[in-house]
Amino acid sequence: MKNIAVMGECMVEFGSAELPQTYKQGFAGDVFNTGIYIKRCVEQKATVNFLSAIGNDELSDQLIKLMTQENLNNDLLYRSNTEKMGLYLINVDDEGERSFTYWRKDSAATKIMQFIESEETFDKFAQIDSLFFSGISLAILSESDLTSFWSFLASIKNFGVKIIFDPNYRPTLWQGEEAARKAFNIAFSLSDVVLPGVEDHMALYGAKSAEDVADYLEELGVEEIVIKNGPESILISEKGKRAIIDVIPAHKVVDTTSAGDAFNGGYLSARIMGRSIEQAALFAANVAKCVIQHKGAIVDKKSFSEHLTKFPM
Ligand code: ADP
Repeated sequence: MKNIAVMGECMVEFGSAELPQTYKQGFAGDVFNTGIYIKRCVEQKATVNFLSAIGNDELSDQLIKLMTQENLNNDLLYRSNTEKMGLYLINVDDEGERSFTYWRKDSAATKIMQFIESEETFDKFAQIDSLFFSGISLAILSESDLTSFWSFLASIKNFGVKIIFDPNYRPTLWQGEEAARKAFNIAFSLSDVVLPGVEDHMALYGAKSAEDVADYLEELGVEEIVIKNGPESILISEKGKRAIIDVIPAHKVVDTTSAGDAFNGGYLSARIMGRSIEQAALFAANVAKCVIQHKGAIVDKKSFSEHLTKFPM
């Protein structure tokens, strides 16, 4: 059976949608969301591991419960006795605009490399077929842990693990653009598959179009590239051979939170199931379309499976 690991941070979310603020507790994180969507699409045909660190407290226990409900594997999930999960609040103002406040510095997930490096060997990572991580997974690491991460990545790549990366650029998490560019360039060079958004490359590399993004990544030798551009078309590049996939804009957009995460989940699940890059991109667009027509990062299971019945892989 295929076995993918997704590496990143899952945070405790306290979200409010109305005034006066009343908070509903949940869990979210970009690659964690992607992991949930991969698993919901592949069902029992592949294992999805969440590679991260959480605390040893009640909230962290709740995350494990959620992972069990979503059939995510926790063999690569470490538990810290000293650090806790990161947390964020979503507030709404009088105009309905949302703002985010984070408490994630020094969270358990930021220490993931210390747990990985405490393993005597990396043998358990040789079991996975592919590893997906994002620019957020990188941004939360200290400089020295980032260096360790590159060695880890090179080691597992040597085992034959496929490396998959979405830059998912969040300026506030980085010590400047140059630090992000430097890290992303290393990640691109080590990656077999890159799933960027055009906006990230506009901000960091001055790209003006999806073609510019493809030029940049093909030049670095990335063989499988899928470029997201909101409701615009998707550009795919396979060993330098490009094609454009049309996106049919949604009639009603409710909430675009995690559109990119859901897209990645749909895409990777279809690739795990042996679909072509083009078929996978079409399926991914359909998964993302479902998610933007519902509130929140994770669509309820029933609505999601109804959507998959209507738009199967
Ligand atoms: P990100 O969350 O990374 O910014 P995007 O906004 O680029 O992601 O959207 C990811 C994918 O979601 C797009 O490639 C597209 O397939 C889908 N999508 C986004 N907005 C729309 C829309 N208005 N209608 C239909 N699909 C959309």
